[in-house]
Amino acid sequence: MNIDLIILVFSLLFGAIIGSFLNVVILRLPQEKSSIVFPASHCPSCETPLNWYENIPVLSYLFLRGRCAHCNTTISLQYPTVELLMALLTAAVFHHFGLTITGAGYFVFCGALLTIIWIDIHHQIIPDLISLPGVVLGFLFSFFNTNLTWQSSLIGLLVGGGVLYTIAFLYLVLRKQEGMGGGDIKLLAMIGAFLGWQSLLFVIFFSSITGTIVGLAAMAKQKKGGATRIPFGPFLSLAALVYLFFDQQILYYFQLYMQSAQ
Ligand SMILES: [Zn+2]
Repeated sequence: MNIDLIILVFSLLFGAIIGSFLNVVILRLPQEKSSIVFPASHCPSCETPLNWYENIPVLSYLFLRGRCAHCNTTISLQYPTVELLMALLTAAVFHHFGLTITGAGYFVFCGALLTIIWIDIHHQIIPDLISLPGVVLGFLFSFFNTNLTWQSSLIGLLVGGGVLYTIAFLYLVLRKQEGMGGGDIKLLAMIGAFLGWQSLLFVIFFSSITGTIVGLAAMAKQKKGGATRIPFGPFLSLAALVYLFFDQQILYYFQLYMQSAQ
């Protein structure tokens, strides 16, 4: 049997299981005094503990047709979505970077970003409990990362944190309101630490464009004008994921653009 195929199948399975764990983190991390590990998985509505066969990533959702077997409440589509996305990201990371320390580090990075995306959508916060250890971990990881030098990571985390801090500060001075949360600043510092300073221009550009498009659409729908608040963390995270897999192409086109501009 082909070794690449074995790695693919195992990373899909492993990723789905980790995705299942991330669902628990997404649900319980923003709630104070709630443990990630205890109690065991249960239905969020009737609190009946789940049997093993009700707890299989993606498959249980399909097999239960999206409803709790005990109380018949609809199970959020978020559960299989997170499991599926983590399975695909895990397979993509190990396909792209191989079964290496670099691959393992970016696997952790993907899990952190996926968790941040969902928590930010639900609660409009990016937990420091993920972003701050993420900054440190990203920097330590750069010493083992074959894709990145530690200098690039260090500049990335400083500039990433600094740029958004400056924008947020100017926004506060000029418009007397907070435009960007402190959570976004720490998240961009984490992205800079994991991807290096070279990634930041793209990440800011891509997230601003996608964030603006979605923001305008939301504004048109809600008709509340400039007061509509949409979380920015998911756009930063999405941009980081795009850069993680397409950095070569992005930097190549960026260079072409710079040369044509001269
Ligand atoms: Zn139930």
